[in-house]
Amino acid sequence: MSDNSLRLVWVYPDLLSTYGDQGNALVVERRANQRGLHVERHDVRSDQPVPTSGDIYLIGGGEDRPQRLAAERLRRDGNLSRAVANGAIVFSVCAGYQILGHEFINDLGQREPGLGLLDVTSTRGEGERCVGDVLGDIDEPLGLPQLTGFENHQGVTHLGPTARPFARVRLGKGNGTGDGTEGAYNDTVFGTYMHGPVLARNPQIADMLLRLALDVNALPQVDDRWYDALREERIAAATQPA
Ligand code: GLN
Repeated sequence: MSDNSLRLVWVYPDLLSTYGDQGNALVVERRANQRGLHVERHDVRSDQPVPTSGDIYLIGGGEDRPQRLAAERLRRDGNLSRAVANGAIVFSVCAGYQILGHEFINDLGQREPGLGLLDVTSTRGEGERCVGDVLGDIDEPLGLPQLTGFENHQGVTHLGPTARPFARVRLGKGNGTGDGTEGAYNDTVFGTYMHGPVLARNPQIADMLLRLALDVNALPQVDDRWYDALREERIAAATQPA
C-alpha cells in the first residue's frame, strides 16, 4: 500500500483468463473503491515483466497450452515469487492454481515445474473431467460464508503437509482427489478451482484479500444485495434436482 492506493496485478490476461476470471479483478477493484481506496491496476501481459511491488496478484484459469507457456514465463520472470517473499497476496484460479504448486502435467503430457508457492502437486485425472457447479465450506479459520463456484478441469491436485485446504466440497469435485478438499492456501497465497468468476460469487473472499493487503481486521460494510441475489440464484441452481 502506498498513499492510500492499492496495487492490484492481474497476471497474464492474454494466457490465463477463462470463464470470466477477469471479473475477479473488477470485483477487487470495485470493493476497494467502495471503501475509498484508490486502486492502481496493472494488467501484465505474458511478454511483460511482473511487477514486484503489487499488493494483490490475481491469476486466472487457462487451457493446457497457455498454462504451460504461462508457467515457463512466470518461472523465467521470477518476480511473483519475489513479491510473495515480500508479503504480497496471491489469489489464483484453476490453471493459475496449478502453476503455483510444485508441478502439474502439461499439454505435452510432461511434468511441468510450477513456482512452488503452494505445497500442492497436480496430476492429470484419469476419470471424467470435473465440470459443474460447486458448493463448499471454506476452511473455518478464514471465517467466510459458503463457497459457490463453477469448475472445469482435468487436473487433480494433491495437498502437501504445509498447504491447508481452502474449502471442503458439499457438491462437486474441487481438488478431484476424492478427499473432499477444494483449493489450498498458505499464509498469503490462495488457490482454488472455482470460476464463476469466483469473487463475484463470493465477495467476502475479495474482502478477505483486501483485509490482508490493508492489514486490518474489518472493512466498512458495502451494499451486497446484487451479490446476494447472484449467490442465492447459483446456490439454488446447484442444489436443484436435475
Ligand atoms: N488446464 C487445466 C486443467 O484442465 C486447467 C483448466 C482451467 O483453468 N479451467 O486441469
